[in-house]
Formats: sequence, C-alpha cells, structure tokens
Amino acid sequence: MNKQFAVIGLGRFGGSVAQTLHSMGYEVLAVDRDPSRVQDMAQIIPHVIEADSTDENALKALGIRNFDVIVVAIGEDIQSSIMTTLILKEMGVKKIVVKARNDLHGKVLEKIGADKVVYPERDMGVRVVHHLISPNILDYVELSNDYSIIEVKAGKYFNGKTLQELNIRQRFNCNVMAIKREGNYNINPSATDVIYAGDNLVVIGHNNDLQKLEEATVSDNE
Ligand code: ATP
Repeated sequence: MNKQFAVIGLGRFGGSVAQTLHSMGYEVLAVDRDPSRVQDMAQIIPHVIEADSTDENALKALGIRNFDVIVVAIGEDIQSSIMTTLILKEMGVKKIVVKARNDLHGKVLEKIGADKVVYPERDMGVRVVHHLISPNILDYVELSNDYSIIEVKAGKYFNGKTLQELNIRQRFNCNVMAIKREGNYNINPSATDVIYAGDNLVVIGHNNDLQKLEEATVSDNE
C-alpha cells in the first residue's frame, strides 16, 4: 500500500511538498489553521483541512497518528512548530519531518524527537552559492558535512575522452555516477564511455575533492 502523508503548514515550502506529493500520486492530507491558505490549497489537492496543530484534540480527530509520514512546515511561528512536533511525537507518529528556521530551532526539534530536520532556505542558499562561484556547477546536493553530489558541465578538456582516460577516480578521488547528454541520463557509466564537451557529469565525492574538480572545470572552460 502507498504511504500516506500529512503536511501541516501550507506556506511556500509546505504547499510545495503537498502539491508535489499529490502530483506524484500519493495520498496527502494538508492542514493549516489559516482559512485562506486552506481555501487556496483546496483548489489544487483534494484533502485539505483547517485545524490548529497545537490543539491535540484536533489532531486526534484527524486520525493523524495513522499517517506514515508527517511534514511539519511551520517556520515563522517557532513555538507552534515545536509544540506540534512534541504532540505528534507523544501521539506515536511513525515519522516526523520538520522544517527548521535556524540551527537553534533545529536543535530543539532534534532533542524532542523529530526524525528529520530540514533547512530548505539554508540548503537552497548553499546550492545557489555553488552555482554562483562556479557557473559550471549546475546542481549541488549536500549528503553530509563531508560528502556531496554535484552536477558539473564537462569542458574542452573532457571532450572525446573516456572515463578511464580522464581518470577522475584517481586524479580527484571522485566517482562519476551519471552522464547527462541532451536531457538523457546514462546512469552508472562504464569506464569506456566517452564524454563530450557540454555533457553534464553527476559526481559524488568528498567536498575537498569535489572542489578540486570544480576548479579544474572552471579553468578548463575559460
Ligand atoms: P514558507 O517560507 O514556507 O512560506 P514560513 O517559514 O514563512 O513558510 P509560516 O508562513 O510561518 O512559515 O507558516 C507556514 C504556514 O503554517 C502558514 O500558512 C500558517 O498559517 C501555518 N501555521 C502556523 N502555525 C500553525 C498551527 N499551529 N496549525 C496549523 N497551521 C499553522
């Protein structure tokens, strides 16, 4: 059976999470205390309810305990975010994902048992900066403090060479996970696959090693 999701707080982040889940075919219950937010979201997805998530009885009445994953996307009202998370935790919800506004907010959420804390503004800021510093970095996903995945544009140096010839693994200590050409992905490429200038390489590695690769592609494209 498909997982069932609930999203509490329909700001830009929560609204986007709810819409994306719905468009991917998942069942999602969206909750907000603001009737105008509820009305707007009801135009887009079928199950939207007006409720205050700091009211334990209201959450019980929604049967919120039975959902597989609950996303708490309340940012501004930190007290509401923390109280909601605490109530959900005490109700025994299986998985609680909470949006944090800052590090302190995040730490509190972790302490009271949030299963995952996300920082959408901070993460997006980091991604945008990587793109600004090196326009060849098309995307950037942080896996941990040390490791990331980047999507980088292959320049002249790469043109016509196989992965084996480029020797990225030895030279940069990074792994090419996929090659994207004209919108198509070759995932798990083999050593004999040829790269062309303009291809995008999806590379995983330690941040220090990825930075060296970024620098190499910058000078290569200039
Ligand atoms: P974003 O940046 O994603 O737009 P935000 O971080 O500014 O959002 P808010 O606008 O504070 O977050 O909150 C998102 C939504 O959460 C709002 O629509 C707000 O009405 C709703 N919300 C806040 N507190 C509660 C609560 N106790 N119960 C239900 N909904 C709530």
